[in-house]
Amino acid sequence: MARIVMKFGGTSMAGIERIRAVAARIRREWAAGNQVAVVVSAMAGETDRLVGFCREASALYDAREYDVVVSAGEQVTSGLLAIALQAIGVPARSWLGWQLPIRTSDGHASARIADIETAGLLASMARGEVAVIPGFQGLASGERVTTLGRGGSDTSAVAMAAAMEADRCDIYTDVDGVYTTDPRIVPRARKLKKVTYEEMLELASVGAKVLQTRSVGLAMKEKVRVQVLSSFVDDDAPAADTLPGTMIVGEEEIEDMERQLITGIAHDKNEAKITLTSVPDKPGAVASIFAPLADANINVDMIVQNIAHSTGPTPSSTDVTFTVPSSDLAKSLDVLEKAKAEIEFAQIVHDTRVAKITVVGVGMRSHAGVASRMFTTLGQRGINILAITTSEIKVSVLIHEDETELAVRVLHTAYGLDAEDDGAA
Ligand code: ASP
Ligand code: MG
Repeated sequence: MARIVMKFGGTSMAGIERIRAVAARIRREWAAGNQVAVVVSAMAGETDRLVGFCREASALYDAREYDVVVSAGEQVTSGLLAIALQAIGVPARSWLGWQLPIRTSDGHASARIADIETAGLLASMARGEVAVIPGFQGLASGERVTTLGRGGSDTSAVAMAAAMEADRCDIYTDVDGVYTTDPRIVPRARKLKKVTYEEMLELASVGAKVLQTRSVGLAMKEKVRVQVLSSFVDDDAPAADTLPGTMIVGEEEIEDMERQLITGIAHDKNEAKITLTSVPDKPGAVASIFAPLADANINVDMIVQNIAHSTGPTPSSTDVTFTVPSSDLAKSLDVLEKAKAEIEFAQIVHDTRVAKITVVGVGMRSHAGVASRMFTTLGQRGINILAITTSEIKVSVLIHEDETELAVRVLHTAYGLDAEDDGAA
């Protein structure tokens, strides 16, 4: 017998038919003798609809009341799922965020979970009842309802698993696991059996959007074993405890034998490149660029500063190139224009037609040559590199957006990630 958290997203909750299918899936785990807590999202599209109502009611809505409104989507699905479970003979009840309670910070619309009271819940589960918990919601001081930020029910599920000391947190989603890269680009991408928290964090933050990034950070901190698996399988599909999906685990759980040099390749087209030309080469110059961007809450990712060349009698100057999320480009340009006198640059050049390609793998820690293989492989295909960043377990390059698919494909092959042909010896 195990204690498990099962999390279902909005697609799985979209309509009574699907909720019934989810209930059947839960009954299997429950009938196998497991203690089961379920965390649910709102029906697909529902949260967007509720957010729209708030905006319509007033452009300057009160975030505390916004949370009351948008948390309602999960209240509905948790009650419906409990009803569907009861209808097939599974004792179940819903536990709203304020009933447990799930204590959070006061940061309305993007609150952080502080503490979860589990005594009542555990007693109920010990009696054989399935606990259904709406994701995304909690309770702040002053007993006000909060929400955790969009996509937050992944974080709810991981936090519940940590608080309940669950054996596993199974995230049922519309993909059946985490792949070496996007299978739509590389049909021979392989599903990973295991991936480490750190790798998953890197993959998630560079575009492999399976889980909310925050939930992965929390799982790493609390050592929650998370499995990503498909919610669309029939009744005779392998049980979740045979681990048919991808397990996200600590590095110590991955044997040396199964360790690849590179675990996965991600791509992200949502970055924009900004270059400031002729920035004076003097102490404080770079700070004068990035301080106002930081004040405006803009996340700068890759940074390249060229070596300055002194030309004639004027002080030497240099170009500074960096990337920001595309959605922050307009704001960034505005902030930089306003700081022009202080930064003393000549011109701003920007480009949104760029993509960031990232190779990730904990194996890099102990092996040299990962970055050089990346640069060589891209160079042989005539793909130009515009910027580079690295960490201990990843190398990212910025390239022209049109070359994204080609770059991912050739790198996938170069690092030996392509699946064997079916039937090949
Ligand atoms: N329903 C919320 C959203 O759409 C939370 C979630 O589904 O994770 O953002
Ligand atoms: Mg989601």
